[in-house]
Amino acid sequence: MSRTLIRNVAVLVVPEHGECRVDEAQDVHIQDNLITAITPTASTGATGVAGVAELAGVAEPAEVAGAAGVRGEMDVVDGTGLVAVPGLVNSHTHSPMVMMRGAAEDLSIEDWFNRRIWPMEVNLTPERVRVGARLACAEMLLAGVTTFVDHYFHADQIAAAAIESGIRADLAPTYFSSASQDGIDAAIDTTRGLSRLHPRITASLGPHATYTVTDEDLKRTADLARAESLRIHLHAAETDDQTQASLDNHGVTPIQVLNRTGVLDAGALIAHGCGIHESDLPILQRYADRTTVASCPKVYLKLAMGEVTPIKGLQAAGVPVGVGTDGAAVHNTLDVWEAIRMVALTQKQREHDAEWMTLSDTLRLATRGSAAAAGLADHIGVLEPGRQADIALVDLAAPHNQPVHDPRAALVYSVRASDVVTVLVAGQVVVRDRSLTTMDLTEVLADAKSLAHTLVDLSKGGAIQHYAP
Ligand SMILES: [Zn+2]
Repeated sequence: MSRTLIRNVAVLVVPEHGECRVDEAQDVHIQDNLITAITPTASTGATGVAGVAELAGVAEPAEVAGAAGVRGEMDVVDGTGLVAVPGLVNSHTHSPMVMMRGAAEDLSIEDWFNRRIWPMEVNLTPERVRVGARLACAEMLLAGVTTFVDHYFHADQIAAAAIESGIRADLAPTYFSSASQDGIDAAIDTTRGLSRLHPRITASLGPHATYTVTDEDLKRTADLARAESLRIHLHAAETDDQTQASLDNHGVTPIQVLNRTGVLDAGALIAHGCGIHESDLPILQRYADRTTVASCPKVYLKLAMGEVTPIKGLQAAGVPVGVGTDGAAVHNTLDVWEAIRMVALTQKQREHDAEWMTLSDTLRLATRGSAAAAGLADHIGVLEPGRQADIALVDLAAPHNQPVHDPRAALVYSVRASDVVTVLVAGQVVVRDRSLTTMDLTEVLADAKSLAHTLVDLSKGGAIQHYAP
């Protein structure tokens, strides 16, 4: 048994409805992977015999605390001056694409796919994916991201990086219908294997999109998902152009495709959904208990996609929406703080309403909404007893946050990834005083730098897929 106490910290409270608030001077009690209590600091008497010395002191390393737990001691993290927020969730990404950061700029969505990304992905190998995923995990943990929802190739390598780093992940091995049936079967088998790998790893089925996977393969995926209680994570209605192309070519919207193939019935995380039409909303509403959507607005602006996710309509239909970055080959960072800010800004702009997507609604979307998108609504996303101890401690002392009239405003509009000081996942301190405890960052960076050129090499020719929605 290991015990951790985060002492004298301000805690972000995110209710299901209504205003979020920040409670000052709280102690967060953690046992093994769970939050067991959150109590006002003054009333704490639970530190035991060694209590006084620990309260004054510098926190011990997590490994030592694990051993110390046997003696009834605990790891004390001093939260003075910090705000504890639910660990952030990156609800849609392709983590190893950090290896292509900055290598596909100023391009239309067609050219981004066809002239850069899909030709570059000819170069993927298990080792390169693993090196990329390690870099991605490092970037996310240091920024307070404790869970990522991934969709990529060689997902077993991403799982290995996630397990090593201490982050939580839901991984969907990507497949296209252009792959052989054997290739699709292999991706599905990988999903099955991943879900048994580690308590912090969950797995989803990963058909790429409605325009790259046939109805027949989507049906098969949906049947399998239902039979084996797996979720489906895929791209759909990413742009209005895709929805229009689907209507022109098939007479139905991408959401109708998901409906008629049974994907919605099986339960799906839909990436983007910017091309979701009004007429799709009643369909999504029928499956609102098992459908979620991830919004990654920086990407929509950068690729000039014309629309952003219709969050207001989705929420009115009862569909939870989460925040993601998508891959760094277009988002350039895996900074979820940045993504949260972009959601608030683009939603206000979309609705022409500065009073929409308030601080509280934005924070709720980024916590409870993203937890739902990760398929972990009952386990993460809120700081309360019984939940996983996935926590980021944020320091608002830097000039760009001062003075703090409203800490919620700081969290949505001014905080930076580098303001994250300490991070716990499942009760384990994985970042302490802005340093990873689980990986050697220098080595992670050196490995990524030494292999980066191999990913962006276009000399071989070919492509793994062609974008033509
Ligand atoms: Zn994506």
